[in-house]
Amino acid sequence: NYRCRSAFKLLEIDKKHYILCQGHIVVDCGAAPGAWSQVAVQRVNSAGLDSNASVGFVVGVDLQRITPLDGAFFLSNADITDPATQDKIKDILPGGMADVILSDMAPNATGVRDLDHRKIVGMCLTLVDLAHSILRPGGTLLCKLWDGSESTVLRNKLVQCFSSVKTLKPQASRKESSETFYLA
Ligand code: SAM
Repeated sequence: NYRCRSAFKLLEIDKKHYILCQGHIVVDCGAAPGAWSQVAVQRVNSAGLDSNASVGFVVGVDLQRITPLDGAFFLSNADITDPATQDKIKDILPGGMADVILSDMAPNATGVRDLDHRKIVGMCLTLVDLAHSILRPGGTLLCKLWDGSESTVLRNKLVQCFSSVKTLKPQASRKESSETFYLA
């Protein structure tokens, strides 16, 4: 049982693009209520349920409280854009590095489409900087945005830092939404 239907978007993306592997170290940004973290815990075996596979690690971060989950380490009431939070994540990560950064983060929507778009792109840009400090070479960043005029700014920045950048529109996203994922 997943905490939220957003789990199906990550499952769909992972099934097609093999982002999460056993033993991986994952940072889940905007993790509350915790469905993506549930998927990550299963895929990377961070609860150690598969004794034959390597054991991964999952850190989830959110402004809101995240209910505890076996196999995940949560930072609740924490802002990922705050350098203090980023330092904490670095301290928590085994070896200070991650294989995968996931972001399903969303700002509180104002309903003004362009404003919301700019806000979420700004958050994603912060994650590219975070990736520079904690993502292992060859690592993966998956981030959600609401498509708009600034999307190319983000995409161009990703292209500069990653060997491949894909634009994904999972079927599990609602049809009318501008929701898009960049997989870098
Ligand atoms: N992926 C989650 C799941 O499957 O349960 C759902 C995430 S929900 C769509 C977006 C979350 O992003 C919200 O819980 C919100 O509090 C969080 N968020 C927004 N801005 C944030 C920030 N600056 N730092 C951390 N979390 C943030």
